[in-house]
Amino acid sequence: MLELKKITKIYETGSLKQKALDGVSLNFRKSEFAAILGPSGSGKTTLLNIIGGLDKYTSGDLVINGISTKKYKDSNWDSYRNHRIGFVFQSYNLISHQSVLQNVALALTLSGVSKKEGISRAKKALKDVGLSEHIYKRPNQLSGGQMQRVAIARALVNDPDILLADEPTGALDSETSIQIMNILKKISNNRLVIMVTHNPDLAEEYSNRIIKLKDGKITSDSNPFDGSEVSVDETNKTSKTFMSFLTALSLSFNNLMTKKGRTILVSLAGSIGIIGIALILALSTGFQNYIDKIQEDTLSSYPLTIYNENADMTQMLLSMMGSEETDDMEDNIVYERQFISSMFGNVSKNDLRSFKSYLEKNYKLVENDITAYRYTYSVSPVIYSKYNKKLVKLNPNTLFSSMGVSSLYSQYSNIYYEMMDDTDSLDEQFTVLAGTWP
Ligand code: ADP
Ligand code: MG
Repeated sequence: MLELKKITKIYETGSLKQKALDGVSLNFRKSEFAAILGPSGSGKTTLLNIIGGLDKYTSGDLVINGISTKKYKDSNWDSYRNHRIGFVFQSYNLISHQSVLQNVALALTLSGVSKKEGISRAKKALKDVGLSEHIYKRPNQLSGGQMQRVAIARALVNDPDILLADEPTGALDSETSIQIMNILKKISNNRLVIMVTHNPDLAEEYSNRIIKLKDGKITSDSNPFDGSEVSVDETNKTSKTFMSFLTALSLSFNNLMTKKGRTILVSLAGSIGIIGIALILALSTGFQNYIDKIQEDTLSSYPLTIYNENADMTQMLLSMMGSEETDDMEDNIVYERQFISSMFGNVSKNDLRSFKSYLEKNYKLVENDITAYRYTYSVSPVIYSKYNKKLVKLNPNTLFSSMGVSSLYSQYSNIYYEMMDDTDSLDEQFTVLAGTWP
């Protein structure tokens, strides 16, 4: 049922070409226990991997049930590996965070078996290898021999035709090795078991065929098979391998749940990150709003004012204080200093008329940047107050004009300020204690 025809495998690593198998021809019976013996590096693992479809041969042919695998597509190999082959490794290769039962049942999920059936089949396979009591343990709670039995159960749960074992007892003591060999021997009653081993004694005692390998070549075969045995073909075993979307989803979910602690921690850490960002955003928005509010408040008490006459006070003060002395002045010459004119040269005029009409035409441009605006028309109301039974003129204040300073200062001499006509924004900043807004 399984025939290797002059199989050659060459590994190419860089410029180095390594012939791991060199024209290996073998024919296997439908059920037998074949042991492959040979020194390290003789190509035993390579041979097993090629039989199991884990590796591709370089030349030759692998014939399965009379059909050449030369034209096998990836899906054919998938199906072959899943339905016909069971693998047992020296290092068990169990998934440590899953229970023994889950490890075995997992092998079935790829075959599209329902979860319930998978569990019951996994339980049966574990019972066959004598592990019924340990199905809910984790692999690391088992002994080496028990882990290898789990691996065998996993290899068998799909009911494969061929069981491949690569040094299955390599990591086990002699007593446990014997247990494993007995199980493999029993399996070989109705399956083909091919085992690679280092131990000639075990091979001698338990297997019924010993194939010796050296440097990629077969040096002896104790019980060769010429292929004359009539093999009953089971072509119904070529069904497609598949995993439904739901299975994949539930597998992922299971995987998450088996690491509950980690999942919770990861979600927690993720949430902290997200919450942190939200907090920072909230803080900065709040801060910005606060600054805007303060700005608005301040501007309503100290609005930006544009006068028709403007003086750059800083420049004025500078020119008042500046000595205007330069290096090229000669000592015995008296220079004239244009004190007043340089001071008032800093006074400039604003064309408020044009500005007003511009503002009214393009109000949309500034709409979002201002809270309110108002015009004054240089009309000062005249206000008198009674003081010591005498009338005192409060506004316009006569102090500056009596000092004879120009009208420039009149803007600072007003004690009367017109209120903004936008009562909404005033309402926000002032509370009317008595009376009403005008
Ligand atoms: P065995 O299992 O009998 O100890 P292997 O089949 O693992 O031997 O290896 C046979 C030869 O092929 C060895 O010389 C090894 O170095 C080489 N070999 C095995 N696998 C690879 C690989 N993936 N790439 C390159 N060379 C390999
Ligand atoms: Mg090996």
